[in-house]
Amino acid sequence: MKLFTKCPYCKSETSFYSFVSDRAMLSKEKGNPVQLTCKKCNSDFHTEVDNIYAKKSIIAIIVALTILVLGAPLAFIGLNSFIRDSGYFVISAGMISIPFVIYKIINAQDRKRVDSFNKFKIKG
Ligand SMILES: [Zn+2]
Repeated sequence: MKLFTKCPYCKSETSFYSFVSDRAMLSKEKGNPVQLTCKKCNSDFHTEVDNIYAKKSIIAIIVALTILVLGAPLAFIGLNSFIRDSGYFVISAGMISIPFVIYKIINAQDRKRVDSFNKFKIKG
């Protein structure tokens, strides 16, 4: 996932990718403190694993919103003739809610990922 920390020199936020899911794994993989290079001022610096944090993924939000925005009308269009013919409004409402459910699941999983990384600190 994408992880963030603040550069001690220019104070801007810099990011890097890692496949770890918590700070214990991060310190095993990269050591503690972690050596990083600021993307903005290009300085090399060391930072404690506890100063590194996860944020909500923009990609997850975009995917979730795309499913929501495209899925709801598609479900409606697909079922439009069926609604007119049969009047089974309850079923069609259920179909339209599927994109909303997917949206909620993606959002919840992303929050869980961020929370599980941020809540555990090496030094407590
Ligand atoms: Zn910097």
